[in-house]
Amino acid sequence: QARLSPNLRHIDFTPDMEARTHWRLDVIRQLRHDFQAGRLEVWFQPQVSLTDGHLVGLEALARWPGNGGFVHPPEVFIKLAEDAGLIGELGAWVLERSCATYRSLRDTGRALHHIAVNVSMPQFRQPDFPERVMDILAAHDMPATALELEITESLLLDEPAVVLRNLETLRQAGVLISIDDFGTGYSSLSYLRQLPVDCLKIDRSFVLEIDRGKGDLFAQTIVELAHKLGIDTVAEGVETQAQVERLRELGCDTVQGFLYAHPMPASELAQWCDGRGAGGRMVS
Ligand code: C2E
Ligand code: MG
Ligand code: MG
Ligand code: MG
Repeated sequence: QARLSPNLRHIDFTPDMEARTHWRLDVIRQLRHDFQAGRLEVWFQPQVSLTDGHLVGLEALARWPGNGGFVHPPEVFIKLAEDAGLIGELGAWVLERSCATYRSLRDTGRALHHIAVNVSMPQFRQPDFPERVMDILAAHDMPATALELEITESLLLDEPAVVLRNLETLRQAGVLISIDDFGTGYSSLSYLRQLPVDCLKIDRSFVLEIDRGKGDLFAQTIVELAHKLGIDTVAEGVETQAQVERLRELGCDTVQGFLYAHPMPASELAQWCDGRGAGGRMVS
């Protein structure tokens, strides 16, 4: 990593950048290997309705397990997969695992409203992306309306033509679109006027400040804006009961965070769902 020495304001490139290049190539090789060997996993984090406490959905989150822990967090290896041209394949696999998980929960009487899958920009702008999504849905006999794709605001900076076309195609097929980390990206609000979007995810940085500081005002403004546009809101990174109370006051629809559940492997989901009280607190 380039280092800025405090006194000289001099950037010391060569040795660090070289080390970094080695590191990157090494990790990419290891990632490709472990991915092809079937060692990556998709974990899922519950999303809970603030109106009735029901489980409404799950967010799929990629994991790279190693011996005794995780090799690298997704922020790191997803970026490397993008740079290495591996994200199309890896992303399609995350989608496939997500649809399979949705199906197995539905087949055992646990029907979710949706499963949310993060999509990165190089993946989304593949011209055949909508087709790949529809093929995966069809293979699992999963309705398009039960899939939510999470995109970020930065998606709209690059190649808007193919991005807009893909968004339009997916949306017409019934796929839900949400904007992840809303309010932290580059876009102006104006794209919300033209873009078909179903949900805004309020970033954790706002939720963290919700009962102190400016985060509260931002969360409030996002919820109000969303509701005026007929869009749902999900608050990310909810960790305290106080945050829940305030989000409910603000009219936020759905919450997701460690207070409810950490992301978990697919094999633990059924038990988690069933442990949520008698009567199955699920939507159908
Ligand atoms: P994200 O989509 O904004 O996902 C939410 C992140 O917040 C997840 O981190 C989740 O584990 C974490 N989180 C959830 N609740 C809490 C909480 O209460 N407190 C705290 N401190 N954190 C919470 P994770 O799994 O490490 O993923 C990080 C990012 O990596 C994701 O952010 C997403 O941008 C990216 N990512 C993960 N999986 C995929 C994937 O399959 N495809 C793509 N394109 N990106 C992915
Ligand atoms: Mg997300
Ligand atoms: Mg997010
Ligand atoms: Mg985030």
